[in-house]
Amino acid sequence: MSGQAAAEPREPGIDGEQVAALLPMLRRIVAARVGSHPSAEDLVQEALVRVLDARDRIEPGMLEPYAITTVRNLVATMWRSKDRDDRNLHRALDPTEPERADQAVVVDEERVAMAQAVARLDDEDRAFLLAHDVEGQGTGPLAEASGSTAGAVAARLKRTRARLRVEYLLALNHVELPTDRCSPVLLAVSAADRRRQREVDAAQHLLECEVCASLAEPLAARGPTRDDEVTIPIEADPDIVTARKAAREMASRAGLEGTDLTLIATAVSEVSRNIVRFAGSGEVVITLVAAPAPGVRVVARDAGPGIEDVPRALTDGYSTYHGLGLGLPGARRLMDEFDIVSEPGRGTTVSMTKWTDRKARP
Ligand SMILES: [Zn+2]
Repeated sequence: MSGQAAAEPREPGIDGEQVAALLPMLRRIVAARVGSHPSAEDLVQEALVRVLDARDRIEPGMLEPYAITTVRNLVATMWRSKDRDDRNLHRALDPTEPERADQAVVVDEERVAMAQAVARLDDEDRAFLLAHDVEGQGTGPLAEASGSTAGAVAARLKRTRARLRVEYLLALNHVELPTDRCSPVLLAVSAADRRRQREVDAAQHLLECEVCASLAEPLAARGPTRDDEVTIPIEADPDIVTARKAAREMASRAGLEGTDLTLIATAVSEVSRNIVRFAGSGEVVITLVAAPAPGVRVVARDAGPGIEDVPRALTDGYSTYHGLGLGLPGARRLMDEFDIVSEPGRGTTVSMTKWTDRKARP
């Protein structure tokens, strides 16, 4: 499953020291919002991690505006999700029950926003994207059919996805871009095109434009450029939210719908939460699978203490963290395939797959 796009020449990037130098500023911003809350330093660290993750996608001049934007968004997200968790502590034991009413609303909103975003694409761009991502046509055949080259088709698909991400966020957040400069800035961020970011002076714009500042972080912080795979580092509770969201997006792109999106998102939450609770850190990799059948594969790995007794950990009712959530048995029930390898002292890898068409699954 290697990427088809040719490697772009690497420009000199942002080094870890430049990112670490942001610490005092981030601490000031967090302190101004949450005071000396126990999570304050977590938020600062979390923001740093995200800035580090995005550093290849943003031009060096954008470092500071991007960091400010990221930490503000994180603070806002943390309060929102904490609030929701508090309200929902009592439920979430029955995986077949449609999820929380507010989450069902979220799923609907995401679906509507995606439909609007797709509708806003240029007709020809949309046709290419659907032919490639939905019907599975390769760039070669698409190039032949349109009298173009595979490279040109790949570049066009990349531009179209960058635009789709922008349009999706705009639709989801019900915002309109206030100035003519907004769209070129957001497209450059979404495409991780650092040369273009400099050309349109994205850094300055992010400081001046509140709308773009709120959208830049979700646009840039989306992991590796590969479109068929996303890796989410898992270290703290906000990452569980990120993993959950990514799972839902990938599952939707795999053609899964409705309840299945919620089931896979929940399974990913469970394995991510296990990492946070027991291993401290790890990662979740979500991959679109084309063969032997379409579906989504999730691999969650950590280098934590491992599980002594795997069969027991998979027993229903065996709760590894006192009844909050479904745990591993729940995750296993929610997916079509489930496999766990754990070595005490070395770590745990959970692999799970959901097939788009259960009847066609291998
Ligand atoms: Zn703007």
